[in-house]
Amino acid sequence: MKAPTTFTAAVLRDGALRLEQHVLPPRSQGEIDVDVTLAAVCGSDLHTVSGRRAADPGTGLGHEAVGRIAEADDDAIDARGAALRRGDRVVFGMIVSCGSCDRCSSGLPMKCRTLRKYGHASVDEPPHAIGMLADVVRLVPGVTVLRAPDVADELLVSAACAVPTAAAIVRALGDAPQGRVGVVGGGAVGTYVAQMLIDRGTEVLLLERDPARLRSVGDGILAVDRLPPDLDATVEVSGSADGTAAALRACGVGGTVVLAGTVSPGAVHLEVDPSDIVLRRLRVIGIHNYAPEDLIAGVTWLTARGRRAPEVVGTVFPLARVTEAFDAAARHEALRIGVRP
Ligand SMILES: [Zn+2]
Ligand SMILES: [Zn+2]
Repeated sequence: MKAPTTFTAAVLRDGALRLEQHVLPPRSQGEIDVDVTLAAVCGSDLHTVSGRRAADPGTGLGHEAVGRIAEADDDAIDARGAALRRGDRVVFGMIVSCGSCDRCSSGLPMKCRTLRKYGHASVDEPPHAIGMLADVVRLVPGVTVLRAPDVADELLVSAACAVPTAAAIVRALGDAPQGRVGVVGGGAVGTYVAQMLIDRGTEVLLLERDPARLRSVGDGILAVDRLPPDLDATVEVSGSADGTAAALRACGVGGTVVLAGTVSPGAVHLEVDPSDIVLRRLRVIGIHNYAPEDLIAGVTWLTARGRRAPEVVGTVFPLARVTEAFDAAARHEALRIGVRP
């Protein structure tokens, strides 16, 4: 394996998705070059390509991947302090935070004042290889990197997005016993949240109307077509007005409602009677993205689950056919469509 000097990436330019090859300048100190072994198309990649989300010209797409280190400093370590060497399998976060601004210092690194995100920045600017639907990704200081557990790429590929977001949601629910939790939306995040909660001994009711999605949610989760009232907590990850209304309605007195599904401003409108929240003393928490501790918690959970981790990847396309992968993802053929360089 030698240090990469070029990279090929799925790029959104002038509104069109295409594969571009670029020169990769020499790596700076602290940066880690990774040969991607598997990447996945996430729902927010679809939002970017469809124009529902603003994108820089030349956006390098993709923020869910797993790979092997192609080149790193001799003293490179991961987020747990383990040495990182060429050839090591790694998972890594999508967020670059400074670690020192007021938000980073107050537990909100995902809202860092100088935040950058993989999959949402231009390949024309350093570090260039900033999209994970690519053969090479360059990790800059500020990205959380972890040695990958001995679990198949297909089960690890969402470790940068859906898994840590689910871990952040579970953390927001708190440590208090959560007897019965309603989860609205059986996409990848909802599936991970439901299974993480099941592993904590929580009873999970999943509201998901797409029968194809219900097939992948896993054992022990009760699929329902409406949430009963008086739940201890509810989680909204469907991104719909109906789903948000259902989550607010079903949460019992003193309960916690986590809203994480709606990320496009103006996409969804909901009429709320504030007295619903006031009289039931609800705690409503918005969760968007995650902190390094959530990535570590998510990977720890995936490691414990091992081969029993949720299978979210359907068809895997070669990188050369990435546009077909986006088409398959847009048809919701599976929770994730894989892309292999
Ligand atoms: Zn994502
Ligand atoms: Zn910061």
